[in-house]
Amino acid sequence: MGSSVAVEVTGLHKKFGDQLVLKGIDLHIDMGEVVGIIGPSGSGKSTLLRCLNLLETPTEGVIRIQDEVLYARQAGEARPAKSAPGKLKTGMVFQQFNLWPHMTVLENVIEAPLRVKKTDKKAAIQKAEALLAKVGLLEKRDMHPIYLSGGQQQRVAIARALAMEPEIMLFDEPTSALDPELVGDVLRVMKDLAGEGMTMIVVTHEMEFAANVADRVIFMDQGAIVEQGTPETIFRHSQSPRLQQFLSNTSFTAFG
Ligand code: ADP
Ligand code: MG
Repeated sequence: MGSSVAVEVTGLHKKFGDQLVLKGIDLHIDMGEVVGIIGPSGSGKSTLLRCLNLLETPTEGVIRIQDEVLYARQAGEARPAKSAPGKLKTGMVFQQFNLWPHMTVLENVIEAPLRVKKTDKKAAIQKAEALLAKVGLLEKRDMHPIYLSGGQQQRVAIARALAMEPEIMLFDEPTSALDPELVGDVLRVMKDLAGEGMTMIVVTHEMEFAANVADRVIFMDQGAIVEQGTPETIFRHSQSPRLQQFLSNTSFTAFG
């Protein structure tokens, strides 16, 4: 079975005002791959992820998601040749879970399928219940998010993203806002998802998760991909001084 393209990024640049935040990213990800992105704060990790679903508009470059060009603009062109998704193929989970506070857990999960996909309500509820069971929170279906722990809210956010049946899941530091004892449950849900073959791009500070779950780890610094490879290569045989320095500042000691 040949692998098919999930994400193909070429020459991606992003400026905020005069600040060049992404300096020409080239990235190829196959369907089924789990990619971890690590790097210091401010290196452009979130901006890259947000460009992949057009939460940020790139300055130039090409982004292809599966067989669809999501965004295309060459240097010097007045406007993008393409800058709109047909159907959004990516689901995103944010550091701050961003659940709707006035809705119950179940309502949070069925909202987008009902409004955006025009799914039949009964089918949407059935699907939502299955997803809530999957993340271990079916019994919270009628509660409002405020009564849930951060870890539970984040698992609802994952169920909500999955309800739209994305081809690719994007996670932006999904456990960074959580108390340490709540991190494990969220990582377990993500690990299960990876085990089921979901294509995932995970920006994370959890080096152990990146080492154990990712097929490939990408190290970003100052708006560029500095180094990428298998977890073993990145964590054990890193080449660039910048990555070595970054790793020496974390307490992670996998692979000795
Ligand atoms: P990371 O996720 O790696 O911490 P970000 O992608 O959030 O990095 O940010 C990269 C750089 O872009 C930072 O210097 C940040 O201040 C800047 N930046 C991010 N978002 C915006 C924005 N909406 N407006 C202006 N500058 C931004
Ligand atoms: Mg970030």
